[in-house]
Amino acid sequence: MSSLNAEARNYIGGELVGASSGATFENVNPATEEVIGVCADGTKEDMDAAIGAARRAFDETDWSTSPAFRAKVIRQFHDALEKAKEELRAIVVAEAGSPVVLTHAVQTNAFIDAMPYFANLAEGYAYEQPMSDITFMGMPQRRILRREAAGVVGAITPWNFPLYLNLCKLGPALASGCSVVLKPPPDTPWCATTLGRLFAEQTDLPAGVLNVVASSDHMLGELLTTDPRVDLVTFTGSTATGRRIMECAAPTVKKVFLELGGKSANVVLDDADFAAALGMVGTTCIHGGQGCAITTRLLLPRSRYDEGVEIAKAAFENVPYGDPTDPRMLQGPQISKKQQERVLAYIEKGKQEGAKCIVGGGVPAHLPSGYYVEPTLFVDVDPGSTIAQEEIFGPVLAVIPYDDDDDAVRIANDSIYGLSGAVTSASEERALAVARRIRTGTLSVNGGMWFHEDTPFGGYKQSGIGRENGVLGFEEYLETKSIGLPPDEGDGSIP
Ligand code: NAD
Repeated sequence: MSSLNAEARNYIGGELVGASSGATFENVNPATEEVIGVCADGTKEDMDAAIGAARRAFDETDWSTSPAFRAKVIRQFHDALEKAKEELRAIVVAEAGSPVVLTHAVQTNAFIDAMPYFANLAEGYAYEQPMSDITFMGMPQRRILRREAAGVVGAITPWNFPLYLNLCKLGPALASGCSVVLKPPPDTPWCATTLGRLFAEQTDLPAGVLNVVASSDHMLGELLTTDPRVDLVTFTGSTATGRRIMECAAPTVKKVFLELGGKSANVVLDDADFAAALGMVGTTCIHGGQGCAITTRLLLPRSRYDEGVEIAKAAFENVPYGDPTDPRMLQGPQISKKQQERVLAYIEKGKQEGAKCIVGGGVPAHLPSGYYVEPTLFVDVDPGSTIAQEEIFGPVLAVIPYDDDDDAVRIANDSIYGLSGAVTSASEERALAVARRIRTGTLSVNGGMWFHEDTPFGGYKQSGIGRENGVLGFEEYLETKSIGLPPDEGDGSIP
């Protein structure tokens, strides 16, 4: 196996196992195009076994009703993650092509550090609370509001922030008392299978509470969306797949919780300090632009448009990109040849539709291997054009001029997406007034950062349904039960 100490086996029913077919698939480093190892190629039979194990663990063990035990297991998992942190960091860089600098934040450290938060939620949450007494048809009534685990969760994740996205589903799903089948993408299987090994070897997690099924076949995820034994699907990925998941989940009326794509706007108001507001605009290219919440549309006021474009141009000409193991790099490769080609096709489309490409636009000559795309800056972009409307998932920024604050809000909201965004102004009041009118799930005002394990994260419109992280994110994994009781003859307390 690899020197990364990655796990090549799936985790089903408490056992680390190869695929039922014995097959494996290759894991490719997108920065070098080299095969770095293999992973069990899960089959339909494996997925069937994993769902069965999760169903039994939920129905037949006391996992869902033992919050203190769940907290203990999550703390054991946290200790295991801490010990494996450097290996996990190396895996994230090798299989996702993430710049190592990012692993010190969202890509690795942030949600390892967040595990105690989920352990505390598991044991501290008020699952059952009395409601005020009511009178129904003249009779006094007592009521209890009870929240309990939703059941078997199918968790389907993408490759761009693979460790973080697995952890931000496992933390709250397990804390809530659900059992889980995790299906990672074929591009980054080890960020999931290695977590399976940590649970198997270093925690008291009962068999079947967590199952990890990696596969080269995307359609294994679809089994989670159609199987009647699965109660809830939590999905992070593209809006196109999210729509398909809703369709597939409809016949069994599953709850779906979707974290989808984005096309977020960075609105710079005309009174802003442009050097400060735009100096960092090259961060659009971070991790090859493969982040759902990255602001990929830059809205500049016409009155200061040329000045803004000059600063953005200089920023894009100086984005450090290349070998993701080099800590100076902000941008690594795209995840695959297919994604590289997809981004290049969008760049061509942008040119065809009349936008001006003033930086980049191609494959960098100095990086002969790896799926790189140059940091690419388009100006004079029509807000209705393809590159202003569709999620490119590449290091590409579309600069769009606007007339006044109302026009900026209109353009920012002219999108099927509503995930994130940014507003900058010399006046916090004015920036907040604009931010309040933008229909997105998160926003940065004057450079402020919202990301944290207790911040609800998710989208308006076609960016998703539901919120990840925070108490709201935890509650996505809970059902609600309202219980009525007759008047009490004793002291009125609830047993
Ligand atoms: P994708 O939709 O192609 O795949 C995501 C996952 O779904 C993978 O595990 C894949 O194997 C699986 N899958 C594919 N088809 C399926 C089906 N029919 N049924 C069930 N599962 C299926 O997305 P991707 O290319 O891996 O990831 C990039 C996308 O993810 C971007 O659109 C990005 O914006 C989005 N994303 C969103 C967030 C967020 O929190 N909103 C975070 C990260 C990424």
